[in-house]
Amino acid sequence: MSPPENATATTRSHAESARLATRARRVFPDGTTRATLQRQPHLLYAQSGAGPYLVDVDGHRYLDLNNNFTTLIHGHCFPPIVAALTRAIHTGTCFAHPTCLEIDLAELIVTRVPSVDAVRFVNTGTEAVMFAIKAARAFTGRPKIAKLEGAYHGSYDWAEVSEAATSGNWGDIERPQSTPPYSGTPRTVLDDVVVLPFNNVSHARALLEEQASELACVLIDLMPGRAGLVPIETDYLRMVRDLTQRHGILLVDDEVLNFRQAYEGAAHRFGVQPDLMTFGKIIGGGLPIGAIGGARHVMEVFSALDTAPAVPQGGTFSANPLSMSAGLACMQALTRDAFTHLESLGDYTRAGLRELFESKGWPFTVTGQASLLRVHARPTPPRSYREAYATPAERAVLASLSAQLLERGFIAPTSASWSLSTPMTRTHIDDLLAACADIKDLSLP
Ligand code: PMP
Repeated sequence: MSPPENATATTRSHAESARLATRARRVFPDGTTRATLQRQPHLLYAQSGAGPYLVDVDGHRYLDLNNNFTTLIHGHCFPPIVAALTRAIHTGTCFAHPTCLEIDLAELIVTRVPSVDAVRFVNTGTEAVMFAIKAARAFTGRPKIAKLEGAYHGSYDWAEVSEAATSGNWGDIERPQSTPPYSGTPRTVLDDVVVLPFNNVSHARALLEEQASELACVLIDLMPGRAGLVPIETDYLRMVRDLTQRHGILLVDDEVLNFRQAYEGAAHRFGVQPDLMTFGKIIGGGLPIGAIGGARHVMEVFSALDTAPAVPQGGTFSANPLSMSAGLACMQALTRDAFTHLESLGDYTRAGLRELFESKGWPFTVTGQASLLRVHARPTPPRSYREAYATPAERAVLASLSAQLLERGFIAPTSASWSLSTPMTRTHIDDLLAACADIKDLSLP
């Protein structure tokens, strides 16, 4: 393994990663099983992780600001999670019977999150969003959904619409186009998704009022990562909550990413009471998970107690004891003090980066809050997906920043949010800032 990293660039050999990438191209269509992996400057194969660090197959150690796309809020191999998983493995990995563990984790979520009275567990955030949408349809008897332009919610067809709208196809701001996530997307899917301009109150209100009678839900993310990690503005959120309430539309708040913002979750922090919420990532402690939660009278659509459920939801691995054990150990360690630490470290990181960018004369800015942040190659913070949308030149300069940080021992993704973990300290962030300061040759857009 390489010695503790300093802030200066080293010439690292990535021979073993390159060898594995060549082997992988023979068995996977693009050499991977995830389109979202960073391939620039090259794929990095992981060997192991410990605390805030990841070690690659060539023996280099990195401070991991990806954390498996924000999942690992305690970093890698957090001892209480390792202990809980070890116990669970020895007592049975899955059963066609419920376990006490699922009640424990559900109770923790219901106790912490004010708008959640009842929960269902699934295996991914994608599934959680899919079932929340089905629940909203079954509850209201309406087919359509509305969502924020540029927001990512996983891979359910309706939720995917316009997640990757481009300046070439997004249409007028008054009425954003429903853009297909893949060629061959059924026209009916596009027709059943109303795309709302993000943080634009008047245009979004007009669209919601026009479509209200057909809408089952408005699907929101309070700080959508792909749309720039820009917090939803208060008057926009209020407008959406008022209109949904007035028209009997459910408000579905996807917190797969943003549940890590606070002890009670992001909705509490933003002062909104959604009808349904979705969870994933941190609540599984590093194992696959998703959950739908919400008001009891809405969650009743999943009940198979007396009749056939309005929404059938099963899943061979739903609430499996491994995910429940890891999730419980992770969440129990996320005390109020842990969130205070993450919040102050996040503020420290964002302030440090802003100061650094200014001193270097880079026209960069940082968005995000709590333990999440995102760097933009533009001088002022974007307020919407369209403003956050990076030009090819901006993308290239961000990729260069990421590549140069990699060479200095930091995994800081280009097109995903950077996230902090509880074992990180100001010393780690000072090292990150020193590494940024050491970069001399970013070709600015
Ligand atoms: N919703 C949001 C907001 C997400 O960030 C993600 C994953 N990045 C998902 C849903 C999908 O979750 P998963 O990858 O577990 O399917």
